[in-house]
Amino acid sequence: FLSLLPGPAAWAQKKNPASIATSTPDVERRVVELLARMTLEEKVGQLNQYSGREVTGPASDRKNTLLASIRAGQVGSMLNVKGVKDTREIQAEALKSRLKIPLLFSLDVIHGYQTTFPIPLGEAASWDLEAIRLGAHVAAREAAASGIHWTFAPMVDIGRDPRWGRVMEGAGEDTYLGSLIAKARVLGFQGEKLGGTDAVMACAKHFAAYGAAIAGRDYNAVDMSPQQLWEVYLPPFKAAADAGVATFMNSFNALNGIPATGSAYLQRDILKGQWQYPGFVVSDWGSIGELVNWGYAADKTAAAQKAITAGSDMDMESDAYHKNLAQLVQTGQVKIDLVDDAVRRVLRKKFELGLFDDAYRFSDEQREKQVLSDPQNRAAARRMAQKSFVLLKNENATLPLTKPLRRVALIGPLAKAKRDLNGSWTVDTDTTRITSLYEGLRQRAGKTTELLYAKGCEITGDSRAGFEQAIATAKNADLILLTVGEAWDMSGEAKSRTDIHMPGAQEELFQALKATGKPVAVVVFGGRPLIFDTIAEQADAILYAWWPGSEGGTALADVLYGDYNPAGKLPITFPRSMGQIPIAYSQQYSTGRPITRPGEIRYKSAYIDAPNTPRYAFGYGLSYTTFNYSDLKISRPQMRTGESVQVSFTLTNTGNVAGEEVTQFYLRDPVASVVRPLKELKDFRKISLRSGESKTVTFTIDKDKLAFYNSKLEWVAEPGKFNFMVGSASDDIRLEGSMELL
Ligand code: BGC
Repeated sequence: FLSLLPGPAAWAQKKNPASIATSTPDVERRVVELLARMTLEEKVGQLNQYSGREVTGPASDRKNTLLASIRAGQVGSMLNVKGVKDTREIQAEALKSRLKIPLLFSLDVIHGYQTTFPIPLGEAASWDLEAIRLGAHVAAREAAASGIHWTFAPMVDIGRDPRWGRVMEGAGEDTYLGSLIAKARVLGFQGEKLGGTDAVMACAKHFAAYGAAIAGRDYNAVDMSPQQLWEVYLPPFKAAADAGVATFMNSFNALNGIPATGSAYLQRDILKGQWQYPGFVVSDWGSIGELVNWGYAADKTAAAQKAITAGSDMDMESDAYHKNLAQLVQTGQVKIDLVDDAVRRVLRKKFELGLFDDAYRFSDEQREKQVLSDPQNRAAARRMAQKSFVLLKNENATLPLTKPLRRVALIGPLAKAKRDLNGSWTVDTDTTRITSLYEGLRQRAGKTTELLYAKGCEITGDSRAGFEQAIATAKNADLILLTVGEAWDMSGEAKSRTDIHMPGAQEELFQALKATGKPVAVVVFGGRPLIFDTIAEQADAILYAWWPGSEGGTALADVLYGDYNPAGKLPITFPRSMGQIPIAYSQQYSTGRPITRPGEIRYKSAYIDAPNTPRYAFGYGLSYTTFNYSDLKISRPQMRTGESVQVSFTLTNTGNVAGEEVTQFYLRDPVASVVRPLKELKDFRKISLRSGESKTVTFTIDKDKLAFYNSKLEWVAEPGKFNFMVGSASDDIRLEGSMELL
């Protein structure tokens, strides 16, 4: 379904497919004609975006001002207005303006519109690009039917610091996986063509390096080497651009001393220059105004001047363009060409969406109802949730619950939770549309198993008042299912934490239950990797469920009862301790002088109080079956640039049930002109096998997989030996070999 991504250099040379799609002569002609008729004020108007919560609410000054601005053609886009009724009402106001230019309605449709899918980090754990594409497609279909034209997703920021609350919104720590997922999400949201009835414009955000905020503190500055930027953080953006993403959002962070919103290097040189990106860039919320707070502009006038010059096309909520841009042009401080270019970029998208042909598009309330109640949407969310779960531990085949059980004790603060299962960044607030784990299990357990329940404790706080009842309940059961984790608002934007241990008294509750001697299977909910030592060491089984969305409870029942065999793999490293953070599998360090202590190898770069290894590594995840890797073959030991090498092996399902394995391919350049990571993911396959079945899996090595940025920032593959590793996780390599680039 997805072609392999070429390396960044090849990307840079390749003509952007999006520019072909956008620059149809008809659209270009109409844009030019319209622009010629616009006054300076009307041009600036297209570059302003405001939040519309008030505009549909009760009468207020803000509402009156906004409506007047819309009628005067001073607003190009609204965010946070949704639903056919409201969007039609506001669009009608825009059509009263002199040139009748329609508004763009935008919203953060991050993991679902009405039907909530697992959080993006959970979806990434599926390593299933087609399922991820479909998830975005369902979200787009629902949102489009509800009057939305544009979503602020996908967030394609690489996240390597689990203190940062927004790791929940991305695809995890890996650039290769993240780039493929970026592409899948863009294709899912936008479909084949922007004007389609099931499509919304996507937005690759936050450009760039937002995920590398110092100390994992949201909105913080970022300091990063050019190699890291180009090799780790930019490729998912390039992948989104190549997939034709309609818009980019810049970012709150400063990068190496320049706020991203004011960065001409990022927006003009890289994005619109080297990458020839034809879409437009929206600022992040108020980020143009924030150039003042950064100490990068003296006032909002200077901020507007710097932002437009740097390539920020649309001003979200700062009011800086609205108030200053026309005057900046009149006084010669901003060239009209810059404004014209930004306006053209915005108008193109409005034409491509078909808004000038039908400002309301296909939006009607009946269609909205019909699309939102389509049972296929929930079915897709359930399948996606199943795929997102990661089985971290399963001693003595505790799961699935296929042995006859008379009584199961479902315990924990998240057992009956609904809102929490949707996680943060949700559009829908109706909890009747969410299936809790309790409900899912009750439906599935049937008449033979009795489902007992006790809350035990709250998610946060240290009260142990509920322990006694939980223990009593547990003693009556054959098996304990404990649900622990984070509440929906503990990860997400502005939710950075200095401590990512399991919150509150939840681990103590686990210990109290474990002391009953009954088997304990633990389901963990959350928006980020959590640290849980006792549970990791003593639980009989652990299933990591992230925040699984509307169908979370049903999907969990499917997996707990073995109707679906879990196949998720971690897209982000789970540390053992806070002190290891930031931590990612693809580290660079000196492997010389290992100091061997009993049971482990320590490198020179080490801690004295903990190993370097994480609790659970990137790519890790178990199944109810087992897989064997054998028979490694390489098509040739050497290759020249332009040639390729095929690495193949046999994958066998050696267990008793059917299952899927995400088999991973890593490479290392052991000697290079710059220090290379110990391993880097370069390919993977998700293979489905019946019990006893074998399949041959082949990975291809070409020059792009061997290349990296050298110290002059050239994308090079240096001749010499390369090691490759095939495995079930980044720390579970099953087959290894090497080849040579001549
Ligand atoms: C976030 C963006 C989001 C925007 C609009 C900002 O605070 O950083 O990701 O799209 O708000 O809601």
